[in-house]
Amino acid sequence: MKIFKTIAIIFLFIVFSSLAFAWGVWGHKHINKSAVFALPESMRVFFYNHIDFVTQESPVPDIRKYTINDRAEGPRHYIDIEAFQVSIDSLPQSSKDASAKYPDSILRKNGFLPWYIQDMMGKLTIAFKEKKTSEILFLAADLGHYLGDAHMPLHTSLNHDGQFTHQNGIHSFWESQLPEQFGKSYNLFVADAKYIPDVTKETWRIIKHTHLLADTLLMIERKVKSTFPEDKIYMKNDKGGVLKNKYNSPVHTLEYARAYHEALKGMVEKQIRSSITATADFWYTAWVNAGKPDLTSLDDADLTKQNRKYYIEDYKDWKNGKITKLKIEGEF
Ligand SMILES: [Zn+2]
Repeated sequence: MKIFKTIAIIFLFIVFSSLAFAWGVWGHKHINKSAVFALPESMRVFFYNHIDFVTQESPVPDIRKYTINDRAEGPRHYIDIEAFQVSIDSLPQSSKDASAKYPDSILRKNGFLPWYIQDMMGKLTIAFKEKKTSEILFLAADLGHYLGDAHMPLHTSLNHDGQFTHQNGIHSFWESQLPEQFGKSYNLFVADAKYIPDVTKETWRIIKHTHLLADTLLMIERKVKSTFPEDKIYMKNDKGGVLKNKYNSPVHTLEYARAYHEALKGMVEKQIRSSITATADFWYTAWVNAGKPDLTSLDDADLTKQNRKYYIEDYKDWKNGKITKLKIEGEF
């Protein structure tokens, strides 16, 4: 009997962890694309030449996890703070201290998102120093993905799909369905990228703030649900059951999504905007720490010239809060 119980627990763990996406395609692509425009001009022109790559690569870490089934990938996307059973302030700050304190098996189970961000920063800094175009772009795009994940509250909590509070399905509802339906109204313009004096400290500042929001977003949904007629919460399929999207997540009605989105008072937009700021700040900091290498020499001058017209248009649109020329494959 005990063995069946263990198998059941492992199975549930796999099911719940497989739901951990952290921002859908809408979120990740808008975060990486917007971050390009918040960079200082000397970086912005280079990144703009490759903006399609940086944008399209943004959900690739999730593709590695689900489509390629890369087993090493999963724990890079989250940290179950409660699973460490110590206060968030007593967790090792640097990835070096984390590996010294916890065996790999624990880190793989509880997740190591903040420490992975620090490792990626080190790698990106080296890539800038060595002026390796492909490495800079690949690592920057991946780093943007993990920084986005670090702003998704349910990626910092054991209760990551509301499974302990009878709110299953809230994960993709919050991170994919809401931005897909209401993201058009978000203002994606953020301040210029700033230098981060202490990357380790900044990683934890972000995680701590994100973690605080987990309970809030769950509590708000329970409140909204209690005021809503049960048959108005989910979309129904032909047979009258709950409609599921291609990832097997329940699809909520537009009415319910709107009520929840309003009750969150801008939380989703705020977290997307903070993800953009963090991505630009981290890219900029890696470049400064690499000694501010000249990136203009990495591209053919004709390419930059050819892109100039679109660069001016897109930069202007972003300054007005909008990202243009971006078609998103909907998940809901
Ligand atoms: Zn992710």
